[in-house]
Amino acid sequence: MKDIQIGGLVSFTTIDYPGKLAAVLFLMGCPLRCVYCSNPQFFNLDDGPYDPTRVLDWLKTRVGRLEAVVFSGGEALMQGDTTIDYMRCVKDLGFAIGLHTNGFYPDVLERAAPFVDWVGIDYKATREKYKSLVGNDIAFDRMSKSLDFWISTGKDFEVRITCDPRFISKDDLRTIIDDCATRGVKKIAIQKYQAYFDEGDNPTTTGAREQFFNDSGLRDYINSKFDSVAWRE
Ligand code: SF4
Repeated sequence: MKDIQIGGLVSFTTIDYPGKLAAVLFLMGCPLRCVYCSNPQFFNLDDGPYDPTRVLDWLKTRVGRLEAVVFSGGEALMQGDTTIDYMRCVKDLGFAIGLHTNGFYPDVLERAAPFVDWVGIDYKATREKYKSLVGNDIAFDRMSKSLDFWISTGKDFEVRITCDPRFISKDDLRTIIDDCATRGVKKIAIQKYQAYFDEGDNPTTTGAREQFFNDSGLRDYINSKFDSVAWRE
């Protein structure tokens, strides 16, 4: 088996897998280049600093203490069957498997599905604005295919929308919400964009970042469309 490249590890979290105590593995490599990425150190599929065998040994010591392991990144599915093989090993220890994904690898997602219990999938912008945000002109269609596939599995998931006001307007958010509701999405997370880095000549303002959260009409509209809406400010 080819070694999985692990770039980072969070040993304990209550927020990355809803309802479960979890560890998070950040895998190396991502096919996208989102303007607001807070993890650019994982962009390239370089060697990761974590020994996968030692990580597995450590996870064995967490059995009974943690309930789940979340595969994140980067894009966890970029390492293809190497990721899936590692998921299988982790699942064999008794952990639930979570996956954070940008949806760029629907075929890998399909192969991984038997081992994955919950997915958080990014829906980053409208189709028209997707490329300008992520730097890839097939990313929307790939995400769309992944989303429809995962819905077809009947397994638990949430769609995550990060509201970067440079790429999402309130109308765009309604468009995304309507599309998700039409597809049958039940759980949504609306995430506030955080200006972690120098935004150059076009900085966002606090008001622009908070506009999606302060509009009670918009909130009511979104809340009415799904079984669960998480507002992450
Ligand atoms: S998909 Fe995630 S890891 Fe990849 S560039 Fe975008 S924000 Fe960064």
